[in-house]
Amino acid sequence: MTHNQQLSIIVPCYNEEETVALFVAETDRQTVDLPLELVYYFIDDGSSDGTLEAIKELSRQHPRIKYLSFSRNFGKEAALLAGLQAAKGDFIAVMDADLQDPPELLKQMYDEIQKGYDIVGARRTNRKSEPPIRSFFAKQFYKLINQISETEMVDGVRDFRMMTRQVVDAVLSLEEVNRFSKGLFSWVGFKTSYISYENRERVAGTTSWHFWGLVKYSIEGIVNFSETPLNIATFIGFITFIGSIFLGLFYVIKAFAIGDPVPGFPTLITILLFFGGLQLFCLGILGKYIAKIFLESKRRPVYIVREKNV
Ligand code: UDP
Ligand code: MG
Repeated sequence: MTHNQQLSIIVPCYNEEETVALFVAETDRQTVDLPLELVYYFIDDGSSDGTLEAIKELSRQHPRIKYLSFSRNFGKEAALLAGLQAAKGDFIAVMDADLQDPPELLKQMYDEIQKGYDIVGARRTNRKSEPPIRSFFAKQFYKLINQISETEMVDGVRDFRMMTRQVVDAVLSLEEVNRFSKGLFSWVGFKTSYISYENRERVAGTTSWHFWGLVKYSIEGIVNFSETPLNIATFIGFITFIGSIFLGLFYVIKAFAIGDPVPGFPTLITILLFFGGLQLFCLGILGKYIAKIFLESKRRPVYIVREKNV
């Protein structure tokens, strides 16, 4: 059956040899009544297993399977960008390869788009089958970032979403190298709707996220979408600077009035450490932002393609 309109599905893959075939089979099965022609864009993010072979095998069977393979692992954000740049079609969806993003939602997403929404996201109502400590920190991250950033980020929202061509073009018009997609999709605006679903486990393979990876990802999110840490640093620095002037005056006056009876060594050390620490803290925050500027100014490509069929 041929349809006039095309839905491109972007699938970032890192070591997903066991899941890609299952993914295509299940997604095809769940979308038979969708009045759209499906085209898959698999982005092999420098996998070290047989992912690329598995994808090529699929693309030999179906002409609607496109792929792009990176020269090394550039990260999921880079894979998403490559997919968005390569994808054609009127509607574009982003999905994980492990079937944690239920393909049956694609139909509902398309219905929402028909109703006039531009972006339809998927939102997990629970985080079961995820380590509790990870859920806890994830919750805290969303609380923090929504307090300190003007770009709203909804808790539980996955990268899984369907959007119109217009939205994709808007996201692609943002040329920054440091990409935090959750923030970018929210920043561009447009009419957004969310579909809730229960979390589910991967069909096969293992997650490539580790705790520190997620901590780093959170810091990226904060630094890319908020200037609050910079302001806090400036504020603390300013207050302590003023405070120390008064403290110095106080000691001078005290010394004139009643002399300096105690050598004052402990006080000195304490103050030294206090300011030393504070300065390092502020420098660290500043450094984080400067590092971003440094990366942006190099204008390096976000990814390098080694092989592709698109
Ligand atoms: N992924 C990727 N590059 C990476 C890490 C992950 O393209 O460096 C892909 C991975 O293959 C999967 C998706 O991103 O399709 C989500 O990864 P995963 O399932 O490991 O994360 P989780 O679902 O546990 O958050
Ligand atoms: Mg997953």
